[in-house]
Amino acid sequence: MPEVLKAPLVVEFPFTRSLGPVQSAFLTGLRERVVLGVKTGDGRTLVPPVEYDPFTAEEIRDLVEVAPTGTVTTWAWNHAPRRGQPLDTPFAWVLVRLDGADTALLHALDAPGPDAVRTGMRVRIRWAGRRSGAITDIACFEPYDGEPAEPAGHTGAFEDRVSGILAPARLDYTYTPGRAQSGYLHALAERRTVGERCPSCHKVYVPPRGACPTCGVATSEQVEVGPRGTVTTFCIVNIKAKNLDIEVPYVYAHIALDGADLAMHGRIGGIPYDQVRMGLRVEPVWTDGARHPDHFRPAGEPDADYDTYKELL
Ligand SMILES: [Zn+2]
Repeated sequence: MPEVLKAPLVVEFPFTRSLGPVQSAFLTGLRERVVLGVKTGDGRTLVPPVEYDPFTAEEIRDLVEVAPTGTVTTWAWNHAPRRGQPLDTPFAWVLVRLDGADTALLHALDAPGPDAVRTGMRVRIRWAGRRSGAITDIACFEPYDGEPAEPAGHTGAFEDRVSGILAPARLDYTYTPGRAQSGYLHALAERRTVGERCPSCHKVYVPPRGACPTCGVATSEQVEVGPRGTVTTFCIVNIKAKNLDIEVPYVYAHIALDGADLAMHGRIGGIPYDQVRMGLRVEPVWTDGARHPDHFRPAGEPDADYDTYKELL
């Protein structure tokens, strides 16, 4: 039995979103040290605000200022903060119902330890020194034993409103692909592609997942497929991805490798994007040191007959 692989995997991307009128006012307010909620038709105040009533789906636009002081409604201790979290020392994740609000806001509470945190404790906002119109303009919450603060009655009208945010997303995993995909990856290191055959329906799955999704039985018989294959379907990519050094437009395709009963993904190169077609016969192109083909290019064979891949679409 070959070694089961394990490796760090980081999924990271910048998430850009535009803000509607309500989120725009909320985040611009934070920049100005004002916390805004919205009032629903039945008189509840929602903080953080939403554009539509979660119960009636009615559009809500009535902004109302709430206090920067509030009450912890529940919490969990974070003993090992990770990169990018609000504080770099251990802290509590808290839901805080700000004075004047009917719902609670998720944020961090700076406290010396879990013994110093309880449901019902009073807290206030600690504002960030530099604010840009983001939830991080609230640096965190801190314990507070004074009177509830009085909001000034801001209506949400601001100069120079924040209209969008860039939220970097990052997920850190230790990924283990399991027995079947480890075998697939070990073979790829030798520039071979292997799938696994279902003992019941005899389909060959590439990449193998260790079981047949149709029959529900474990697969174990390794079958080498390819290296050539057939484009079963494709799309033309016109949007350039950040940090990806491929000129647009380019073609991304489903490719059924010879002997496989499932198409896999790959980029098609070596042919103008507008000449790629269903049935095109392709072969992998490897670059030095790569663990997988860089792309597939035309193999110089006649196109495959539709009937040979119609079941693989
Ligand atoms: Zn099966």
